[in-house]
Amino acid sequence: MLKKISVCSLVGLTLAQGCAQLDNAGHAAQNLSSQQQPRNIIMVVADGMGPAYTTAYRNFADNPETPDIEDVVFDHMLTGNASTHPAPVSGYVTDSAAAATALATGIKSYNGAIGVDANKQPVESVLQRAKQLGLRTGVAVTSQINHATPASYLAHNESRKNYNAIADSFFDDRINDGFVADVMLGGGTSYFARDDRDLTALFADNGYQYVDDYDQLATLPAGSDVLGLFAPVGLPAALDDNNPHRLSFLTKNAIKHLEDPEGFFLLVEASQVDWAGHANDIGSAMAEMDDLAVTMEYLQNYVETHPDTLVVLTADHSTGGLTIGADGIYEWHPEYLRNMKASVSSIAVNMVSEASPAAYAEAQLGFTFEDDDSALVDSIAALPDFEARETALKAFLDKKTNTGWTTGGHTGVDVEVFAFGAGADAFAGQLDNTDIAKQFFRFLNNR
Ligand code: MG
Ligand code: ZN
Repeated sequence: MLKKISVCSLVGLTLAQGCAQLDNAGHAAQNLSSQQQPRNIIMVVADGMGPAYTTAYRNFADNPETPDIEDVVFDHMLTGNASTHPAPVSGYVTDSAAAATALATGIKSYNGAIGVDANKQPVESVLQRAKQLGLRTGVAVTSQINHATPASYLAHNESRKNYNAIADSFFDDRINDGFVADVMLGGGTSYFARDDRDLTALFADNGYQYVDDYDQLATLPAGSDVLGLFAPVGLPAALDDNNPHRLSFLTKNAIKHLEDPEGFFLLVEASQVDWAGHANDIGSAMAEMDDLAVTMEYLQNYVETHPDTLVVLTADHSTGGLTIGADGIYEWHPEYLRNMKASVSSIAVNMVSEASPAAYAEAQLGFTFEDDDSALVDSIAALPDFEARETALKAFLDKKTNTGWTTGGHTGVDVEVFAFGAGADAFAGQLDNTDIAKQFFRFLNNR
């Protein structure tokens, strides 16, 4: 078995599905079944990551010095494709709440629904079932932890907008006399440390370690119950965070506290791919994808040493109608995105106080300006309104890269499904987003 894994590693497949099948082929049926029944399940949602995002990321990550476009981590994990439509009452294009409810519970619901069906009745999530069965449970996300995607795994509410009520339910709901999640990492102090109710203190009084900076999180002893909130709402954008790979850091720490003989269920969310898509911000979209790619590389290594773990990655929908190449021109130029040192939002804020806004923007964007670029960027800096400067900088980058967008909202295209580790075979071919939760329930009930 070890020899076969090393053959896979040699051809760069690591523990992708092809290798799992190779290993199984040489083993008795009883081993095959243990390979197909995960003890730990890690669900990764890349919010808004339609297929154009993974293609764009491969081009973004390409080494231009070589003739080939190199593979990226996603290329070794792809297993299927999933439809994302919500319940009929909401038509064909989903929001993150209905999609997360489908991914978490296996039930289609209306746009805005958090862990409730189309009649607003609570439906059990796979994370809640895992807790019921004695596994440890957690979430690690880059949005606030009570945002639509994690909320649908942890809570029930008729509307995603009821942020305080959703936060309250993280503390008030009980499963087997315990809290729903043992580990919660992301943003959200403005919802959890409120004037009317301080949930951070309540969790701390009940044995949780409460931390609000990354260094504190790193020092906690393994196996702790943890509430870690590192920003008032969402975390800073990957391009602006002091840790540009914050999702992999949070994921690694969540696993450290969740590992248990009974197994664990972890939801990881690259929440801000969607936010970059809504903002039509290609620089941030690629930086959020890079944070996700590093997270998937970490998880790939984790599964090599913990083959009883299943990892599934998908998107809840696509955002922004991203296109690689626009305006009838058959070109895309990611080289203008590869050395960015700050988001366009941060540049739009800070450029006005610079003596030479163009020189500042040139350094932050990380490419050499051509003829008219400096004059254009100086004229952008002269715009009195922050949003106008931000919009103009995004248009400048879209023009340079030849990136297109069709909407500031979501689109209804299918999304890719990626899976590796124990039981990954179950996620092949054309799926619906509800099939992922249905299969997780089967795994959990087979324990
Ligand atoms: Mg989300
Ligand atoms: Zn969205």
